[in-house]
Amino acid sequence: MTVSALVRESLQTLWPAVCAACDRKVADEALFCAPCNLSINPLCGVCPGCALPVSPTAFDGPAWTRSGLSLGRCRTCRRVPFPFASATGGFEYGEALSEALLRMKHGGRRYLARRLARLLVQPMAEALARGQLETGDAVIAVPLHAHKLRARGFNQALELARWALIGLSRAPSLRPPVGLPRLERHLLHRTRPTRELGHAGPAARLAEVAGAFLVSDTARVRGRRVLLVDDVFTTGATFSECAAALLHAGAAAVHVLALARAV
Ligand SMILES: [Zn+2]
Ligand SMILES: [Zn+2]
Repeated sequence: MTVSALVRESLQTLWPAVCAACDRKVADEALFCAPCNLSINPLCGVCPGCALPVSPTAFDGPAWTRSGLSLGRCRTCRRVPFPFASATGGFEYGEALSEALLRMKHGGRRYLARRLARLLVQPMAEALARGQLETGDAVIAVPLHAHKLRARGFNQALELARWALIGLSRAPSLRPPVGLPRLERHLLHRTRPTRELGHAGPAARLAEVAGAFLVSDTARVRGRRVLLVDDVFTTGATFSECAAALLHAGAAAVHVLALARAV
């Protein structure tokens, strides 16, 4: 980390009272200013297979409860299931949240990961409960390729997962009684650089990441349930490839969690 980045991070830690998306002054501890906050939409009534909101008519019979929570999978997931066992998303990807994520990733603002991870604590609790993960299981961040990691200085997915786990460990009301799984930093690797494909469709994205992930120590994956964490869930191509590598290495099940879900 450069000296200027270090100073900026220290200052932001000491005086973090600006909006994560637009730098407008906010009350202490607030993440977004009031106008930006209006664009932050928690996901609800979603399919547990793909984390996309679904209309009640997309389900057959009792899959839609009065509380609005879906118990069953949407038709797309039933027709073409993802390789991962379940998906949890925190918020709709867009506006202030996407701006904050872009500033974190491409604007060198690593400190934002710690602040944004606050949004991930509750969804992580839900994902752990959904996958029945416990102490012996693993939380793994979607890895960056070594070149990108060197250029960026940090893996945003790892930072989000790390801080959300710390947040969860300090939240007795959310902390699972079965204990927290362990954050595993060095088990899954991106073996070649892949491009971020912007608005490309699922097929192009899948082709871009095909075979790009490798588990380095299969003995430490075998038989464990895994929660795979990323900042954004777009088409699921990256999650699918990572899940396939982990399942190939013997993971008992792979569940995925993203702070933001493109809807
Ligand atoms: Zn703002
Ligand atoms: Zn679905």
